[in-house]
Amino acid sequence: MNHKVHHIVGLVAVQGTLLHFDQPVMSNETVIAIMGGYYLSMAPDLDDDDSFLARHQPFRMVAKILGKLSFIKHRGFTHSLLALILLYLFFTKIIPVSDVVLYSFMIAFASHLLLDMFNSDGILLLYPFKFRMKLLPSMFAIKSDKSFAQDFIYVIFSGIFYFVAFHYLVHILQPIPWFGSYLYDFWFNIVIPYLPKIMREFIL
Ligand SMILES: [Zn+2]
Repeated sequence: MNHKVHHIVGLVAVQGTLLHFDQPVMSNETVIAIMGGYYLSMAPDLDDDDSFLARHQPFRMVAKILGKLSFIKHRGFTHSLLALILLYLFFTKIIPVSDVVLYSFMIAFASHLLLDMFNSDGILLLYPFKFRMKLLPSMFAIKSDKSFAQDFIYVIFSGIFYFVAFHYLVHILQPIPWFGSYLYDFWFNIVIPYLPKIMREFIL
């Protein structure tokens, strides 16, 4: 998958986690979860020096170091449950973060692994075992380069992302006299009631 698909799905996963935890919009945790989730949703591809993050500093340095390690192959160790467990240990034992941030980070990272399992090559999810895990037969697998399926996923998840981002914006703007409360009433009395029940229950 390309980095656009990875980051938008990762961000929606973080939004879902924040909503699930009823995390206040204006909080350090929200900012850390979104920013960290953005990068972590693309981080597994640091094993490929041509990936989006690997082409930009300071990640280029990390990708160069990973490139020197002989056991790092594309869609190998960094795309495994082992890497996910190490990430968990890092953010619980070395730099402990709150539950909402921890889950946001883990889910953003895991979303990358899940998406890549729809590629024809699959991933070494159970690294160091050399078994490539993939969810679709090659005929239906999603191509790594530009493809209709990737564009489709990107458009759908962008819609969800901007909808939830606007929901957050309504909360942020609420204290503004007149406009804030007008926008708040419009959003909660006119837009939200028309959402499908499952989305309404999740977002509120
Ligand atoms: Zn990947």
